[in-house]
Amino acid sequence: MSWKEECGVFGIWGDSESARLTYLGLYAMQHRGQESAGIVSLDEKNHLNHKGLGLVGDVFKENELLRLKGTAAIGHVRYSTTGQNLLTNAQPLTANLLNGPVAIAHNGNFVNHNVLRKELQGKGAIFQGSNDTEIVLHLLSKNSSSDLIQALKESMQRLEGAFSMVVLSHNRMVAIRDPYGFRPLVLGKKIRDDGSWARVIASETCAFDLIGAQFEREVDPGEIFWIDEKGEHSEKFAEAPRTAHCVFEHIYFSRPDSKVFGQSVYESRKKFGAQLALENPVEADVVIPVPDSGVPAAMGYSHQSKIPFEFGIIRNHYVGRTFIQPTQGIRDFGVKIKLNPQSAVIQGKRVIVIDDSLVRGTTSKKIINLIRQAGAKEVHMRIACPPTVGPCYYGVDTPHRAQLIAAQNTVEEIRQFIGADTLGYLSREGLFKAMQTGENKYCAACFDGRYPTKLYDVE
Ligand code: AMP
Repeated sequence: MSWKEECGVFGIWGDSESARLTYLGLYAMQHRGQESAGIVSLDEKNHLNHKGLGLVGDVFKENELLRLKGTAAIGHVRYSTTGQNLLTNAQPLTANLLNGPVAIAHNGNFVNHNVLRKELQGKGAIFQGSNDTEIVLHLLSKNSSSDLIQALKESMQRLEGAFSMVVLSHNRMVAIRDPYGFRPLVLGKKIRDDGSWARVIASETCAFDLIGAQFEREVDPGEIFWIDEKGEHSEKFAEAPRTAHCVFEHIYFSRPDSKVFGQSVYESRKKFGAQLALENPVEADVVIPVPDSGVPAAMGYSHQSKIPFEFGIIRNHYVGRTFIQPTQGIRDFGVKIKLNPQSAVIQGKRVIVIDDSLVRGTTSKKIINLIRQAGAKEVHMRIACPPTVGPCYYGVDTPHRAQLIAAQNTVEEIRQFIGADTLGYLSREGLFKAMQTGENKYCAACFDGRYPTKLYDVE
């Protein structure tokens, strides 16, 4: 079985509005997962929880938030590939262990999930859903230590791959980040007028901005951090040969207003665009982004190339899940409902179109077709990252290798498929030059096939 998840996690300790603040934190991180949302709060020593399929604003109404009492809470938003869209997989996952209740919200994927699942099932474990986070609950339930931190530290030794987690028990909130630091996880403080504060944890700093919390630091790779009535504690539970922060967080996944792995995502994207212009210049009249993901890169490209930036494609922001996909016969309608090219900007022009990434190539093909219909004289496609040649096993939903157009085709073949006059990608070297950081700090396996960990039973 194979599943891939994109997720966002949040946690707060020490605020009487914990569930409401978690709701807001999740709201800010909705882009990290739109399939399910959940919150578990700690009321005295008991867990209260509510989870549902859908967007944060649909899953939680006033009644649910009023019911989720307590001064601590954790939350999760989740997206997974089709077929795994079940309520049993919605997080935080909860269980009643010998030493009390435990709830886990996890972002990332364990690469050894199949091995562990089979081993645990062989020993009698019963799994409810298909997500790999459940493995942690079983490892904890089998652990002989009565101390949750000890049990977590020992359980983490069994996990390989990506995990940024927030855990809530009957008396503690815990943050854990895998030793490679694949996924982001940040600590902050929400300071009240009287100087007292609540501890907050989130996948992205944009969650802190919304609730008025201050970013303090990242949870270090290999760190377990916890807070309880005695105060705060931190330990290193594992070391990796290097860090492997996901470079795709900067390219596409994180919000541009977040600071991820110590750098502004917005600034990174602008630099990717500027570097792309240096590497792939072309004479043209206008630079247009594929909104919203291509906007900062297109600004960088325009600035570097001195070719004017225009919003040549307008995005409808209200396209939700309720939109009924048109039948196969009505071509291009699917993309057009979301993205509409403006003839006023495009007509008779040589157009450079910038997108953050090209995965299957189907989106670019449709967009280029629409831009030509809107009267463009030439269409030059520029992609602000290198060709995507490898699937992600660490928590980004890239499709199987067979569906990755760049894994199967040359750049010229891709150009023909998408119907562009020219096509240019940012080089791997250019990507790291723009990041202004040593490439050994990052995982770019989707671009270079260099997976930092061992892989198990991959397609
Ligand atoms: P396609 O080449 O048709 O598979 O889609 C590429 C488009 O999908 C680009 O516009 C990206 O912004 C967007 N994209 C890239 N990676 C992801 C992802 N993991 N999840 C959702 N959308 C993505």
